[in-house]
Amino acid sequence: MNDTSQHKGYACCFCGLPIDPDPPDVATLTYATCLGQAKHLQHEQEFYCHTVCLESKLHPQAKIYAAFLATNPSSETEDTADDE
Ligand SMILES: [Zn+2]
Repeated sequence: MNDTSQHKGYACCFCGLPIDPDPPDVATLTYATCLGQAKHLQHEQEFYCHTVCLESKLHPQAKIYAAFLATNPSSETEDTADDE
């Protein structure tokens, strides 16, 4: 094993590369089975990914608003009156 893991072992589930902890990363995806069905059929699994890798896989209509909020924290407080 190499001891170059300054990333706590987070590797992207899309590209396989380590994920640097720069906003909005480290990003996670939660996969859940059988939503709307019996509890005993429901299971969850968490994956780690680069936000850019996830964005590259999503349909253009699927916007990652959480990533925008993570990189623009002031946008949550309606502090943007200087647009024009
Ligand atoms: Zn990646």
